[in-house]
Amino acid sequence: MDCIFCKIANGEIPCTKVYEDDQMLAFRDLNPQAPVHVLMIPKQHIASLDEVCDNNCDVVAHILKNAHIIAKQEGLDNGYRIISNCGADAGQTVFHLHFHLLGGRSLGENLV
Ligand code: AMP
Repeated sequence: MDCIFCKIANGEIPCTKVYEDDQMLAFRDLNPQAPVHVLMIPKQHIASLDEVCDNNCDVVAHILKNAHIIAKQEGLDNGYRIISNCGADAGQTVFHLHFHLLGGRSLGENLV
């Protein structure tokens, strides 16, 4: 499958890894929008939140369960934001489910 995040997950394309286990990977975004900008992805291919269902929602819970551990590992003791863009209007550009973990500065009140 020609999916860049699948290739990152299986090691074909390098990344700067910050966390990995059997179900998920977290790595630094190439184009950071904040001092800390990490992408958290399932290793299995799920195109977006639109494809989350009974059969794969455990990995979504797993990612969100680990998010605060990664945030603390990154020093985000003052807070952080998690975003998942879903579809064209949201500006999703990579169609492999991912959660942006952003922090390291005040992110402001716009965009929730
Ligand atoms: P989205 O617009 O929500 O689909 O986010 C995709 C994100 O993936 C963007 O923030 C890109 O900067 C990031 N990105 C794309 N390719 C790579 C890559 N090879 N390594 C790290 N981040 C990437």
